[in-house]
Amino acid sequence: MNALDRNMMGERPQIRRLSEAAANRIAAGEVIERPSSAIKELVENAIDAGASQIDVTVADGGKTLIQVSDNGCGIAKRDLALALERHATSKIDGQDLVNIHTFGFRGEALPSIASVARLTLTSRMGAEAWLVEARARALSAPRPAAHGQGTTVEVRDLFCATPARLKFLKTDRAETQAIHDVIRRLALAEPGTGFTLRDTSSGGTGRYLARLAAESGDLFDSRAARIAQILGQDFSQNAVAIDVEREGLHLGGLAGLPTYSRGAAVAQYFFVNGRPVRDKLLSGALRAAYMDVMPRDRHPVVALFLNCPVDRLDVNVHPAKT
Ligand code: ADP
Ligand code: MG
Repeated sequence: MNALDRNMMGERPQIRRLSEAAANRIAAGEVIERPSSAIKELVENAIDAGASQIDVTVADGGKTLIQVSDNGCGIAKRDLALALERHATSKIDGQDLVNIHTFGFRGEALPSIASVARLTLTSRMGAEAWLVEARARALSAPRPAAHGQGTTVEVRDLFCATPARLKFLKTDRAETQAIHDVIRRLALAEPGTGFTLRDTSSGGTGRYLARLAAESGDLFDSRAARIAQILGQDFSQNAVAIDVEREGLHLGGLAGLPTYSRGAAVAQYFFVNGRPVRDKLLSGALRAAYMDVMPRDRHPVVALFLNCPVDRLDVNVHPAKT
């Protein structure tokens, strides 16, 4: 029976307000597609909190465990529950949606993740650390915890509440690769921050997939060092530094020589105003730029940072802000 039939039978559809839990789950469908998207949101929160060190632990491709720890500003005890509420954010006041300088601003990530997993939020701001646990619809009262300055978000059994979503996930190996890629992109964007990524699937203390020390110096030097750490010294020696300004746009970073190419477009990192982006226009422009010097089946390696005035950019175009 379709909607029209129902109408003719006099069963008028009724407008209902969705429960908070249902609304969160729908938002989660947009923001949290797979474990790597949860990690992206959590690491962005840690960056927004001013962390200088961010440690990520995963197990089974992030399906059973995701843990993100930072030494940032922390969350006060009275704000712990609020942080897990929809549309609660400390980052904007709702007046100016154009001049946004933080990664987050919608207040959707934590409640979305909590609605599809078991989430524990532990944080210390000042002298005491507290934790709250979100299980299905219930949120525990804050309990004292042991934690250094900063925040740890632990997410267990992602999508346990939405098994349909689990079916769409790839193998643990592929999900772990996607997670590693998210860390690479954010680490390239934030060279002054130290990052580790550890996989504990096989038990024990696990295996480090990434260990990136915080780079010091000005942005130019620290960025160059971080690029070499992530894309290899090899790449840095086979690339040209870009530093051009045109019509209010600035482009910086490294572009690989045509002789240093890859068989797939897997090592192309773009950033717009410090935010990692995936954009057809940018990858198309890149292909065009290399067209005369590279065979069709080869792909350049680049890490390019575009800066433009904030009023020429709309971060609201995409739910995941990519
Ligand atoms: P948003 O990032 O869009 O504000 P989130 O749901 O990701 O929304 O987070 C909600 C709020 O919780 C943030 O605005 C921030 O105040 C707080 N928060 C989340 N993660 C952290 C963190 N790692 N350190 C400090 N505060 C955090
Ligand atoms: Mg956020």
